[in-house]
Amino acid sequence: MLETILNRIAEAEKAAGRAPGSVELIAVSKVQPLDRVVAVLEAGHRIFGENYVQEAQGKWPELRARFGRLSIHMIGPLQTNKAKAAVGLFDAIHTLDRPSLADKLARLAQERGASPELFVQVNTGEEPQKAGVLPADADGFIATCRSMDLPVRGLMCIPPEGEDSAPHFAQLAAIADRNGLGGLSMGMSGDFEAAIAAGATHVRVGSAIFGARDYTAAGRA
Ligand SMILES: *Cc1c(COP(=O)(O)O)cnc(C)c1O
Repeated sequence: MLETILNRIAEAEKAAGRAPGSVELIAVSKVQPLDRVVAVLEAGHRIFGENYVQEAQGKWPELRARFGRLSIHMIGPLQTNKAKAAVGLFDAIHTLDRPSLADKLARLAQERGASPELFVQVNTGEEPQKAGVLPADADGFIATCRSMDLPVRGLMCIPPEGEDSAPHFAQLAAIADRNGLGGLSMGMSGDFEAAIAAGATHVRVGSAIFGARDYTAAGRA
């Protein structure tokens, strides 16, 4: 439930000696039935995360018309051929993970005179199947993005499943720190409190707010 999660975030901020409201909750609404999303909007929440460009396109223009100003974050892998649609739709992209995407986003930013806020995804677990730049390549990639005038706000990671997330959060925080980046997008339903303890500024929580995702019902089986 939204209220429970907001309370737990407030507690975790306090426990970590951090200012109230210093952590932004991104309610991850991918694959959720519309009525659950609307309920969270009606409860007053305005920041959401999505993983698929097409799904987000089918949902958020209408909800924006109905609920007013919202902040919609792209947290899933972004194909270069969907970058144009993505910059038209999202307020932030958390999955900048390769030079070809940086090039494309820089070109689009020039055309539009604006860019979503960007987070560089780091593959802290160095998992071959997972997106993100390797930790050893992060400093260089961040510098490249900055040289293109891209608005890099921070870093993002998804720790390996079944491992303690804390060392991954600490590693991401260290990379952000040495690059002078303030944003840390880390922590999901199972580990957002640990992420807040490690300095998260954005936690991405889905199932703990909306309930389990049913990929079959969403037609993605
Ligand atoms: C789906 C997803 C989340 C939310 O996961 P929950 O475990 O449901 O909280 C967070 N981050 C990313 C990148 C995701 O794909």
